[in-house]
Amino acid sequence: MTDFLVIGGGIAGISAAARLSHLGKVVVLEAESALGYHASGRSAAMFEETYGSPSTVALNQASRAYLETANGGVLSPRGLMLIGNGQDMAEFSNDMKAMALEPMAKDEALAMVPILNSDAVTQVGYHADAFDIDTDLLIQNFAREVRANGGEVLTNQRVSKVLQVVDGWQVVVDQQDFKAKMLVNAAGAWVDQIAIMAGVAPLGVSPQRRSIARVPAPDGYDVRNWPLIFGPGEHWYAKPDAGKLLISPADEEVVEPHDAWPEDLMLATGIARYEAVMNHSVTRLESSWAGLRTFSPDRSLVIGPDPKVPSFLWVAGQGGYGFQTSPAASQLVSDLISGRASEMDNDAIRMLSPARFS
Ligand SMILES: Cc1cc2nc3c(=O)[nH]c(=O)nc-3n(C[C@H](O)[C@H](O)[C@H](O)COP(=O)(O)OP(=O)(O)OC[C@H]3O[C@@H](n4cnc5c(N)ncnc54)[C@H](O)[C@@H]3O)c2cc1C
Repeated sequence: MTDFLVIGGGIAGISAAARLSHLGKVVVLEAESALGYHASGRSAAMFEETYGSPSTVALNQASRAYLETANGGVLSPRGLMLIGNGQDMAEFSNDMKAMALEPMAKDEALAMVPILNSDAVTQVGYHADAFDIDTDLLIQNFAREVRANGGEVLTNQRVSKVLQVVDGWQVVVDQQDFKAKMLVNAAGAWVDQIAIMAGVAPLGVSPQRRSIARVPAPDGYDVRNWPLIFGPGEHWYAKPDAGKLLISPADEEVVEPHDAWPEDLMLATGIARYEAVMNHSVTRLESSWAGLRTFSPDRSLVIGPDPKVPSFLWVAGQGGYGFQTSPAASQLVSDLISGRASEMDNDAIRMLSPARFS
């Protein structure tokens, strides 16, 4: 009998498993052949402290020191630039305020990103306080912590049945059974499916597809130190990535849980929005992908024991914030189980609890 069975080997499951491995024996079950195959392998890998609902921002803030320092740190400077084109002034003002951006003179913005189309761009906001996350390293650091504490991380383990038994849970994978006192549901887009298998009421999460195109850098430019650049109201963004550019239409198409892929028209929409404010016409894609950002009904994370079945723990609804919130979210999971006082305040804990939906 294991203490904790964690279903899902994305950032949510592996970070929760790392924290829980200090409290008892942990086994992580991941359906795919590698950790981070789904949403966690497809993110834009940003840390932006102001991004998300108040409870998400509280998690971002509480995660920052860990991301900066633990195991040598996983953050590197990026910066964030908001580009207005005169047609979206209300959204521009909202984003300036919500993300605490400073107005930036056009000359200064052009010095930073020389391909900005100065005829199309009317206003710019910027702050340096946004970072790239080394997401692979973060996942591997958490996995190492699980193993160092005697836990197991098992791939190719698709859970097909979940039964509540007298002393906990029985989980079936192929012909093999696993038993545990507590079950941690960190199955990303599939969390409601796991809940239904377990006889627990689903939350009504909404997996939403987001697509990314990877394109060559504009000829003659070294883009590596450019900031993440985005349009008002989160309708597109572009981000340097190993000498190339990622361009996303920032889509949020509601879909069923699946192995997501991008549609050409959606990628073209993002590229057109980017080209409208840049002196760069994209002629070729190097690659593209899509991933599912899974939101709870109020778009905030869901962390804690199910109110009706307390041995069933939700670590769900990470939306577009799963990496930047993972240190504090996983610490909260462990604090709620161990009864240790949390660094998060009671309001935030209440806003994250699954009990808010019952
Ligand atoms: C395009 C894009 C950009 C993003 N940008 C950022 C960003 O800049 N910063 C940020 O912090 N976040 C970002 N995100 C969000 C972040 O990637 C997600 O919030 C996070 O990866 C979710 O992690 P997860 O572990 O919940 O889900 P997943 O990574 O999807 O993991 C869930 C796992 O559960 C497994 N599973 C499901 N069913 C079963 C079963 N029956 N048995 C066993 N295993 C099962 C799946 O195989 C999967 O591996 C972005 C996401 C996308 C798609």
